[in-house]
Amino acid sequence: MIQDLHAHTYYSFCSSDTPEAVVEAAVRGGVKQLGFCDHNYGVGCARTDFCWNQGTRLHSDYEKTLVRYYDHMNTIRDKYKNKIRIFCGIEICTLDCEHSYALPTGADVSFFDFCLVENLDDPRSITGGDIFSFAKRCGCLTGIAHTDLFAFIKARGDDPYRYFRRMAQEGIFWELNVNYDSLHSFKSHDYVTEFLKNKEQQDIVRRSGVRLSVGFDSHIAKEYKPERIKATCAALQKAGLHLVFEGR
Ligand SMILES: [Zn+2]
Ligand SMILES: [Zn+2]
Repeated sequence: MIQDLHAHTYYSFCSSDTPEAVVEAAVRGGVKQLGFCDHNYGVGCARTDFCWNQGTRLHSDYEKTLVRYYDHMNTIRDKYKNKIRIFCGIEICTLDCEHSYALPTGADVSFFDFCLVENLDDPRSITGGDIFSFAKRCGCLTGIAHTDLFAFIKARGDDPYRYFRRMAQEGIFWELNVNYDSLHSFKSHDYVTEFLKNKEQQDIVRRSGVRLSVGFDSHIAKEYKPERIKATCAALQKAGLHLVFEGR
């Protein structure tokens, strides 16, 4: 299975690609499952500059804009249903900083096909480092994005197998982010490079039953590199590891 569950469109402040351009780049690249995953603050603020200029965190129609985005992506899913399987997700920021806003308390994301939670390992994260409670709050299939989980678990003093096992039991998956584009200064994620060569880490994840996702985190369709997706999916398959949405 060739899967990319992390693609941004013009719903994110940092991308200007239409959903169609993103899907077509994925289809050309041989991707079979694609997940839209725009930022909550781009979607929720409906890409207006309202929130920046007014110094207001919350667009008055935040809830409606999440639903509108979901509905729009589902029309794209239907339009391309004979070419690619599309899932509608959302990337959830859990940190308030200069250019990103954490998901507001009470904003409903439970109707999404999945969500990717970022900043779990930041001490300022609204998750408080507790993905298990936060996944329940999200109410949809939840993945941990951008995170060196082995380092995170070690810093907490937890046992990696037990932590991954609990993730598997609660249906939480782990994202391997294979981005490499100009927006991120052509910097790849070290935790992914390490995981792909570390048999001990792979063994722990395999035994735990945790599912993985692979994502390019594309913000610029022109710089999409499907070969990174393909190589990673193939390596995981060879190692006997399972992807989320496998068989769907
Ligand atoms: Zn992210
Ligand atoms: Zn992203």
